[in-house]
Amino acid sequence: MNIYEETKFIMKKYGISANKSLGQNFLVDDEVVSKIVESADISKEDLVIEIGPGLGTLTNELLKKAKKVIAIELDNTMIEILQDRFSLYNNIEIINQDILKVDLNEIIKKEKEENGIKHTKIVANLPYYITTPIIMKLLEEKGEFESITVMIQKEVAERLCETPGGKLGGAITYSVYYYSEAQKVLEVPHTSFIPEPEVDSEVINLKIRKKPPVEINDEKKLFKIIKYAFMQRRKTLLNALSQCELFKGKDEIKDILNDLNINEKVRGEELTLQDFANIANKIL
Ligand code: SAM
Repeated sequence: MNIYEETKFIMKKYGISANKSLGQNFLVDDEVVSKIVESADISKEDLVIEIGPGLGTLTNELLKKAKKVIAIELDNTMIEILQDRFSLYNNIEIINQDILKVDLNEIIKKEKEENGIKHTKIVANLPYYITTPIIMKLLEEKGEFESITVMIQKEVAERLCETPGGKLGGAITYSVYYYSEAQKVLEVPHTSFIPEPEVDSEVINLKIRKKPPVEINDEKKLFKIIKYAFMQRRKTLLNALSQCELFKGKDEIKDILNDLNINEKVRGEELTLQDFANIANKIL
């Protein structure tokens, strides 16, 4: 049976249909599943945390490669299917919770202490309605994991993998670049899912950096400035930043930009991460 037939079989057996409001688009393409698992680079010493296992398609392959899989799923219906499907496995833990409310650091710490886990990797075919909050949670919590391999909407993948200062960038581009090295892995057409989503998808791999690529005194200031610079993209940097309470007024911003040789008429999206870091480091 291939994955398409297997998925159809499971859905029929349990009499379920995909819950659209939970972003359920089940992956039914054998090659894509193999490619995700391969690019996550999993060994028998690794803990894999899977977000949104659904019917367990990816989980099934991850279990073969990893020491342990912790699968976090919000939907009770999926939990019952997963428990049934993997009842004979002793290297899976299924958690019925909203990923945004899970303390991943706590989980990883426990696995290191109790199971001698050395490396942790995050893998998921993400629910698209909360892609950005999930990615931001993973990055900002600075969990002790090495990589994030996820399927997301193609358009979002382009933004996340853009170089800061590039055409497709947004505020999130700078965060992703600050915390990780992003790489596109594979474009996936909407026909690889049941039901088919309206958009095409892409698998990306974020390798967590051991050290940020810029020196920064206060990360919070850096990301606040970037947020303001992108809130009204059409404004010049000077006007956009003048709304930000970190600065005492326009004159302070002008002085800082002058000192750094940054034209005050430039738009935020043209700045590199280093430019934003230089601005943040100048604020007293
Ligand atoms: N991994 C499966 C696959 O590849 O076929 C399902 C992927 S589907 C795109 C996303 C999964 O995330 C669904 O099973 C959905 O129920 C689950 N999900 C949605 N919101 C969630 C949340 N807040 N926390 C955890 N899981 C969630």
